[in-house]
Amino acid sequence: MFKLGDLSKIATAIVAGLCFLSAAAELIPASANPSETPVPSESLSIGGATINLEIEPGDLKLSRTQVLDWVRRSACAVTEYYDGFPVRKVDVKIAPIGEGKGVLFGRTVFVHQTLVIRVGLSKLATDSSLRDDWVMTHEMVHLAFPSVPDEHHWIEEGIATYVEPIARAQVGDLSPAIVWRELVDGLPKGLPAQGDRGLDNTHTWGRTYWGGALFCLIADIEIHQRTKNRYGLQDALRGIVHAGGNMEHDWPLARALKAADDAIGAPVLTELYDRMKASPVTPDLSATWRDLGVRPSGDSVTFDQSAPQASIVRSIMARRSSCTY
Ligand SMILES: [Zn+2]
Repeated sequence: MFKLGDLSKIATAIVAGLCFLSAAAELIPASANPSETPVPSESLSIGGATINLEIEPGDLKLSRTQVLDWVRRSACAVTEYYDGFPVRKVDVKIAPIGEGKGVLFGRTVFVHQTLVIRVGLSKLATDSSLRDDWVMTHEMVHLAFPSVPDEHHWIEEGIATYVEPIARAQVGDLSPAIVWRELVDGLPKGLPAQGDRGLDNTHTWGRTYWGGALFCLIADIEIHQRTKNRYGLQDALRGIVHAGGNMEHDWPLARALKAADDAIGAPVLTELYDRMKASPVTPDLSATWRDLGVRPSGDSVTFDQSAPQASIVRSIMARRSSCTY
């Protein structure tokens, strides 16, 4: 499955809250016609939130019901991961695009006191495109973290990259093997290269998305180890939201990390940040997979339950529920 692989050439264009899957600015809306306004919208109530869906003018093969189901599934995964949708209200705008295939880009912004997720959808997108899609969930995960200064953009993208597949797997929308295969394939892109000066000072695409995800995996493992599997990164991230940290608010990063650490009763994130913020940290990923019992096999992975840290993987992936919203 494609995972943000073509973004390196526009890495310098990435700014807080904006996630691009392709050169979105060059895409042309399908039959865009301002005279077609007003755009019909409808609301979903999920996880304590109101999600207003608006499909902008343009052609789509998909029905409104199919688009609505996709938004609902994504919102459900995020609701279950965070034990509630992370904000009370968000506007989701779907932009039909007259070229490409599937889901083309996503971005989440907070403007005029309103959170807006805008996702580009090819007019050729099918229900299968939506079932395979990660973009909508990724964007909704962004809602669950406060806006932090630009040098910490890696943690916003890293959390979204790491949490999205796990959240979808926990509600049965993605297989655990795919989640871990993507980590095995993706995390090497987040390792420091020559001249790296730590996550706060190295703003490449790889270090932003996968370097941030690497921070999350290390944190997840350390939280499980230090709390004897009582807590994981999921509990820490829930703690941030419960403390009032979401995309509507500007926080210093230290405040978010402390809220996370307070939720699990150990300063794991603060200490890990101190290690990784200004220095290149290169974990031995082969040893990590061996200890976790994650064994690459063909284009998938198998899980060795006899591995010393296999219980950590089981804990991270524990099925939380089915989506019934
Ligand atoms: Zn993103």
